[in-house]
Amino acid sequence: MVFPFQSIEDFKIEVNEEHELFRKAVREFVENTVIPRWQQVEKENRIPEEINQGMKDLGLFGVGIPEKYGGQGGGQVLTAILTEELARGIPSLAVYLGVNSLYAIPILMFGNEDQKKKYVTPIAKGEKKGAHANTEPGAGSDVAGIQSKARKENDHYILNGRKIFISGAEEADYLVVSARTSPPGEKRWQGISVFIVEKDWPGVKVGQKFNVIGMRGEQPNEVILEDVKVPAENLVGQEGMGFKIVVTTYDHTRIGIAAQAVGIGQAAFEKALNYALQRETFGQPLINHQAIQFKLADMYMKVEASRLLTLWAATLADQGRSEFIIASSLAKAFATEAAEWIARQSIQVHGGYGADWEMGIERYLRDAVITTIYEGTNEIQRLTIVRTLLRQAMGMRV
Ligand SMILES: Cc1cc2nc3c(=O)[nH]c(=O)nc-3n(C[C@H](O)[C@H](O)[C@H](O)COP(=O)(O)OP(=O)(O)OC[C@H]3O[C@@H](n4cnc5c(N)ncnc54)[C@H](O)[C@@H]3O)c2cc1C
Repeated sequence: MVFPFQSIEDFKIEVNEEHELFRKAVREFVENTVIPRWQQVEKENRIPEEINQGMKDLGLFGVGIPEKYGGQGGGQVLTAILTEELARGIPSLAVYLGVNSLYAIPILMFGNEDQKKKYVTPIAKGEKKGAHANTEPGAGSDVAGIQSKARKENDHYILNGRKIFISGAEEADYLVVSARTSPPGEKRWQGISVFIVEKDWPGVKVGQKFNVIGMRGEQPNEVILEDVKVPAENLVGQEGMGFKIVVTTYDHTRIGIAAQAVGIGQAAFEKALNYALQRETFGQPLINHQAIQFKLADMYMKVEASRLLTLWAATLADQGRSEFIIASSLAKAFATEAAEWIARQSIQVHGGYGADWEMGIERYLRDAVITTIYEGTNEIQRLTIVRTLLRQAMGMRV
């Protein structure tokens, strides 16, 4: 039974030797340059320059961006592999990289040639940074509910609004911003547009940092837009296409959130296994207790199931298949909830040490919680899954 897919052949994962060579290179970087700095990242709540430079030297900022615009031309599978490896080291590093996709995908998919050359090329090279500003105090899941306004005046727009929880806002040079160019029409989602805004333009301010539960190193900020003059040529796509641009972006980027969760789950599992081999209780290694063995087996089951779903969704996306949308929702919701569970079990296996910050275990739970919320909460993923199933059941293609 393959419903809602067409054929058993839809369940393929396409990985090759090049992916593995790339993975090994990233693993080496993470082991040598990233992992030794996890405490610094947690304490300073920023990504150190040595890590940023290392990522730049390896060309990691451009992995998912076409070669034509200065990137490596890798697809979703390669990006997922990269994201998992980074998150296995320091999960917030995967967010640091992920905001690149959140910023670049709407421009690459809907922008014009000039916008791609001017605003994506420096991002691919790691020379500039981007951020994606959609969420507002009154609207997150409900993208159609945004209130920011863009008023057309001759050859430019005047933007006003307040965006919250914007990852990468502090370091960003450019922002992709959604705003209403007209009131909702017959449908609530009508009348939204997307713009590229340079952060140093008058009227753009980065406000408070949100002290969220996890992802220390890349926590989001408020962004305030006050009478920001944006040239009309910085409108992405057509006026009124904004809702489609934003939700299509999340269809793609949530594969990255699933991959973050796989990296978190993998790290928390590996740490638990190693600890169980070293720690002795009641005169024998922890691993000899069947209750611990079962816990480790369950943790590992969830890691591999999450990885398979994530790489499957990424493969479908790389093949240009519309079915990747339901697959990426399945992967995002499953992998992030699995990571949360695995992180919690890893703390349990470590006992009191697991609850101590110094051990570096409890951070995985804090980071995993965030992955269940952003780029479409898991409730919203479930809505996407059910709606796709219903459409298919009523005879429409997925
Ligand atoms: C660390 C972090 C980083 C972020 N980075 C960015 C960023 O870079 N750019 C950006 O634009 N945004 C960003 N966000 C915002 C994030 O995408 C939103 O927080 C998320 O989409 C949820 O929106 P909300 O917070 O408004 O919650 P709400 O939409 O108010 O939802 C509240 C709760 O109700 C549930 N809910 C809502 N509607 C329904 C429904 N129809 N059916 C069932 N349940 C429902 C939700 O799942 C949630 O549990 C970030 C958030 C965090 C925490």
